[in-house]
Amino acid sequence: MKEIAYYHDRFVDVDERVIPIQERGHQFGDGIYEVIRVYDGEPFTMKEHMERLEKSAEAIGMGLPYSREKIEALALEALERSGIQEAEIYMQITRGIHLRQHHYPDPSKPVLSMVVKEARKLTPEKRASGVPVITTEEIRWKMCWIKSLNLLPNVMAKQKAMEAGAHEAVFVDEGIVTEGSSSNLFIVKEGTLLTHPATNAILHGITRRVILDIAEELGIPVEERTFTLEELLEADEAFLSSTTMEAASISAVDGTPLNGGRTILDRIHAKFVERTRKETVDS
Ligand code: PLP
Repeated sequence: MKEIAYYHDRFVDVDERVIPIQERGHQFGDGIYEVIRVYDGEPFTMKEHMERLEKSAEAIGMGLPYSREKIEALALEALERSGIQEAEIYMQITRGIHLRQHHYPDPSKPVLSMVVKEARKLTPEKRASGVPVITTEEIRWKMCWIKSLNLLPNVMAKQKAMEAGAHEAVFVDEGIVTEGSSSNLFIVKEGTLLTHPATNAILHGITRRVILDIAEELGIPVEERTFTLEELLEADEAFLSSTTMEAASISAVDGTPLNGGRTILDRIHAKFVERTRKETVDS
């Protein structure tokens, strides 16, 4: 088993120096990305990730370097070459390599890069105890639904969380909780599952969608509406969702312990495990 990478038409070693100085991803963050979790050798929700990739590309006026089928085939080939069963496929597409200028090159030649590596997993301890989060001011742009490579505000927020001994930083925009720096957020109030609506203000997480689908299957009432920091602090349950974390309970916000309920979270996560693992070994 070994990590494997792909850049611009060829498989490379992950440590190989391959990005040319004029690469627009490097110079401007001019591109988009996806992260796909592989369970037991099978990419989970590949179709949904590819659809989001296409939407993000379209939103920034960029074509894909290959057909969707070829990108999927390359991802599967990378996975096979790596031999990793519990993997993450990181895939990014940039507007290519061109003399540095702000406006789009014409024609632009988008470039695909990929990395397949071992999946990051929440430790069983963190899954059991929940994870602390901090809040941070929403300073991102107004098109957060695009899975853009421009992640500096997210990177800064995550760093702030790490320095505070927290697991995630949650953006709060004038009192409204939007999402985490790399996750979406759910709360439960009197049996109803609440999450920010899929607007420009958040990334439309694939895991968020899977959780809403599971909630529907379980007959749990759902409201996609905005909620405030006060509502988060008083929620019966609160949890984060992402491709790497799945659904993870929030134990505290800015040092204040939450109510700690997890009845609905546990029901949803059990179904999530059923959908993703052939054998229910680790939760
Ligand atoms: N929100 C942000 C800002 C993210 O970066 C991510 C994932 O990286 C998510 C939400 C969760 O999305 P997904 O469930 O598709 O991993």
